[in-house]
Amino acid sequence: AHASQALRYVRSRMAHCTRGPTVEIQSDALIAFDANGEIKEVWRDAKAVDAQMMDVVKAARLDGRYMEGNAGQFLVPGFIDTHIHAPQYSYMGSGLDKPLLQWLDHYTFPAEAAFSDLDIAQEHYQRAVKKGLREGTTTAMYFATIHKEATKVLAHCLLEEGQRGFVGAVSMDVNPGVPHYGQQTEAALNDAEDLIVYLKSKLQQTQKRLMPVLTPRYVPTCSVELLKGLGHLAEKYDVHVQSHISESLDVLEEVDREHGVRDTYLFDDAKLLRPGSIFAHGVHLQEDELCLMAERGSSIAHCPLSNFFFAHGHLDVRRAFEAGVGVGLGSDVAGGYSISMLNAMRSAVLAHKAILIENKTRPDQLPQDNQVTHETGFYMATLGGAAALGLQDKIGSFEVGKRFDAVLVDLETPGNIDPMPTGLGKGRGGDASDAEDFERFINLADGRNIAKVWVDGHLVHAAEGYD
Ligand SMILES: [Zn+2]
Repeated sequence: AHASQALRYVRSRMAHCTRGPTVEIQSDALIAFDANGEIKEVWRDAKAVDAQMMDVVKAARLDGRYMEGNAGQFLVPGFIDTHIHAPQYSYMGSGLDKPLLQWLDHYTFPAEAAFSDLDIAQEHYQRAVKKGLREGTTTAMYFATIHKEATKVLAHCLLEEGQRGFVGAVSMDVNPGVPHYGQQTEAALNDAEDLIVYLKSKLQQTQKRLMPVLTPRYVPTCSVELLKGLGHLAEKYDVHVQSHISESLDVLEEVDREHGVRDTYLFDDAKLLRPGSIFAHGVHLQEDELCLMAERGSSIAHCPLSNFFFAHGHLDVRRAFEAGVGVGLGSDVAGGYSISMLNAMRSAVLAHKAILIENKTRPDQLPQDNQVTHETGFYMATLGGAAALGLQDKIGSFEVGKRFDAVLVDLETPGNIDPMPTGLGKGRGGDASDAEDFERFINLADGRNIAKVWVDGHLVHAAEGYD
């Protein structure tokens, strides 16, 4: 009885994916979670909860452990950004006029080099993490910079702001274009190992909200020796790996010139294709490479917005799914100009439309279950992203035993979305149905509609008027 007294309750309309990209919507659900943020019970219909239990819930209301959403609101799992460069938040929204290799030399490397200054790191990292939370991103996998101490600053920002995440210092020992932004091979490996040890010690204190990730930037900036050294560390410490793979034609040509083999095979030779490894883009992966990734249990961080600018193509999400490769969504700030996962979901739908247009495929010629819709986008930003990160038993949906990482969305926040006129909707009395409201949420909402955000059951953001 004592334990149940400490439970917290949220009653609300709820939407999540429990298996694949089909969204389950419950118009009146009740979720209980404990003080540590573990979900203890999910009632799909609050009206069917028995009277004795309802007395317990009412008691919780008296001491502030109960919250009830209203008709315009949805409770959804927190969004998962599987690929974001935290330092690049500082110039997000600018400098998108160059192809990838020049873009890196001209904008990215100089901006990242400035993060050797810990004050700069503190200022920009804190902003990036806060902004992500305001947009509903409860878990993110971060690239930092090559600087070990500044990367610790990013880790501390996550701890302070309460966001779940992976933090990796970038490893790179080849950078002829901007030689002052790079490392010696041995120093890069030492820094990577030090950071794993440091973050693992922090991890003990934080219920595993903060996790290390090995971060070779991409093949053109890494010697084979560095890749192999990182592969050894991945095995030794059993940690996640992130990098970029098969992003654009200019990078593919560069890799081919230097190594005469595609980047997937270089990563595999270095033992970096592992379960829990996640590679951004994968736009130009061939069938054999997708199969190899599936076999190794590695996943793709799909970054559709950034791909429009740099990739010379779009990831065919359906093809990746069919090959058995997990796919999450990434903002790829600042190759993508938006940190919002809602924008990433919409961009994923558009990227799929672009593939159809390029192939002159008419959507009505496709089977219904072969589309990429707002539901597919939502899946990749929640449960699909969780699976890509190997966290599907922990986050991504509302299930008993998982963490309460959640976003309360309010469609009726003043000043953004007008209600669907009565008579036009398919719901009761001609109002919008739950499914229509959900689709409008994905297509129309922005940070203004993100009312409350929880990580591990802790309220980490409440918009003005919602606290
Ligand atoms: Zn990236």
